[in-house]
Amino acid sequence: MTQASIASPPLTARPLRCRSCGAESAPAPAAICGQCLGPLDPVYDPERALPDRETIAGRAPSLWRYREWLPFDGEPTLSLDTGFTPLVDAPALARRLGVGRVWIKNDTVSHPSLSFKDRVVAVAINAAAAFGLDTIGCASTGNLANAVAAHAARAGLTAWIFVPEELETAKVVGTSVYGSRLVRVRGTYDDVNRLCAQVADRFGWGIVNVNLRAYYGEGSKTVAHEIAEQLGWRLPSAVVAPMAGGSLLTKLRKGFGEFIAAGLVAEKVPRLYGAQASGCAPIVRLVERGGGELQPELPRTICRSLAIGNPADGGFAARAIRETGGWAAAVSDAELVDGIRWLAQDAGIFAETAGGVTAAAALALARSGRLGPEDEVVLCVTGHGLKTLEAVRDALPETPVIAPRLREVAALVQQ
Ligand SMILES: *Cc1c(COP(=O)(O)O)cnc(C)c1O
Ligand SMILES: [Zn+2]
Repeated sequence: MTQASIASPPLTARPLRCRSCGAESAPAPAAICGQCLGPLDPVYDPERALPDRETIAGRAPSLWRYREWLPFDGEPTLSLDTGFTPLVDAPALARRLGVGRVWIKNDTVSHPSLSFKDRVVAVAINAAAAFGLDTIGCASTGNLANAVAAHAARAGLTAWIFVPEELETAKVVGTSVYGSRLVRVRGTYDDVNRLCAQVADRFGWGIVNVNLRAYYGEGSKTVAHEIAEQLGWRLPSAVVAPMAGGSLLTKLRKGFGEFIAAGLVAEKVPRLYGAQASGCAPIVRLVERGGGELQPELPRTICRSLAIGNPADGGFAARAIRETGGWAAAVSDAELVDGIRWLAQDAGIFAETAGGVTAAAALALARSGRLGPEDEVVLCVTGHGLKTLEAVRDALPETPVIAPRLREVAALVQQ
């Protein structure tokens, strides 16, 4: 028998369980629990064989090297190149923050669409394939639009993408170019999201962050898995991550917890710190109030990628922050622009607005004593700066224009 004739088993998605009432249901594109309307999570077989460090290290450098913690049985066939982005040591940043050590989890170079949203879409599109769906879509603040459009194009799927009317040029162009159906909606992200819940019901499409959300969210855990492996199978003491819907923050805890439970790392879950722009910081304010109900906000910030006023996982994110001993910080638009600049100058990494929020929030947390000299900190930098050029363009010094003459260069050098 030749290698090619050995058919790999078809991919099947795992069953679902309600996070609120515990009711289990068959694998399906489902947005909420049929019993209590609670959020759904995939169920893993507790008896499944888990790989050891050497086995994982021998696999291809993508998020599928952690496939036992992703919600499928069988071999994934789509988006096999996503994940395993660099973890970059940033000593100048550690000095700026006054902490022991800083690494940047650099998802600005995520494949194929230059943001961490490639991770969640890589998982969701395999769920769509497992369910035999030929059309996927999303409600997006920009990066998810880019990712869904790119992943769908190469898989040959139709994509319907809904975004708020006001979005950065690069996020619009970087979606339309793939040939997807991009629709701008007059309203906020929360209006777009409500519309997409109706669209999923009416047309039976796989809306990745609505009725494929249980599967989609699991992709975020691989940020934690990669941090653990790339630090040499140990954990940092603190992680700072940006929050939009709050999913990444909750899945960091889940991912670290899974590797501790599997005996792959010995430490406890790092203190998790959440970052938002002060013009849209409902989760930060929930953490500061110490609990209760999340108060939705109307976003007013240039950080559009994090501008979700009524975040679906806000309550869970606030709880993960408190239970790990972390905290949260909101930063102004001016501070996030500064954050983008010194992230570039200290670490050579050009991030979009969410990266500026994360960097500036880390500085605020260090100044208030929540991060200190004994800390080893990972900053999750989640999207590329070329996507939000308008945020920094006007903050940079003017570029001189000269005649092609040496003495004009000499004049500049002397200045
Ligand atoms: C979507 C997004 C996040 C975080 O999203 P959650 O909804 O909180 O999981 C962070 N950074 C960027 C750039 C994003 O696009
Ligand atoms: Zn339920």
